[in-house]
Amino acid sequence: MIVGEQKPLEEIKQLIADHESILVLGCGTCVTVCFTGGEKEVGILASSLRMATQIDGNKKIIHEATVQRQCEWEFLDTVKDEIEGHDLILSLACGIGVQAIVERFPSATVVPGVNTTFLGIPEEHGLWTERCLACGDCILDRTAGICPIARCAKRLLNGPCGGSQNGKCEIDPELPCAWQLIYDRLKAQGRLDQMMEIMPAKDWSHSRDGGPRRLLRPELRLESQHQE
Ligand code: SF4
Ligand code: SF4
Repeated sequence: MIVGEQKPLEEIKQLIADHESILVLGCGTCVTVCFTGGEKEVGILASSLRMATQIDGNKKIIHEATVQRQCEWEFLDTVKDEIEGHDLILSLACGIGVQAIVERFPSATVVPGVNTTFLGIPEEHGLWTERCLACGDCILDRTAGICPIARCAKRLLNGPCGGSQNGKCEIDPELPCAWQLIYDRLKAQGRLDQMMEIMPAKDWSHSRDGGPRRLLRPELRLESQHQE
């Protein structure tokens, strides 16, 4: 899931300062699960902003709505009138949601109320941890299902650095060393010989190669090849 955290209230107040009618727009998917931008958080933030702007002597019209997924136009269309009827949309989705509104409603002014942080999992109640950097060339088959790109501070591909101590990372001793985790798992599975295989330099061309990546379904790819 995509994990994010709400921007501080003071920063959000600055973002809306020059606008009179604001729609606080939530998303019912990832940001709901990480308690950042779902219906409940939208309600709390909208109330806080109503109160704060009134106290500041700068009262504004602040409405609220939440769609099932802000990153898909068909869901955004369900709140078309609300989006077009406000000076400013304060999105509590991830950065993809913000950009989906901008593309679907070119005249809308949209600002982010959330800092999109990483792709991760809920490790325990109230704690999310990063698991994937979306590198575009997954190597989890060679690392016992544990990602050294996301979880090793140095993104090492062939075992730990010299600083790994007692199973912890030298960069942040609060965190487990990713390569210790990989070693432990391979050992438990009787696959330690895999550690002896040298992983080649990673092909980063599938990652940030100078522009946004695209993914076309294979059958559509074939279709467009036939048309050429
Ligand atoms: S290897 Fe790449 S795609 Fe696979 S989990 Fe790690 S960052 Fe994500
Ligand atoms: S201690 Fe482990 S996780 Fe930390 S940088 Fe070194 S190899 Fe990577």
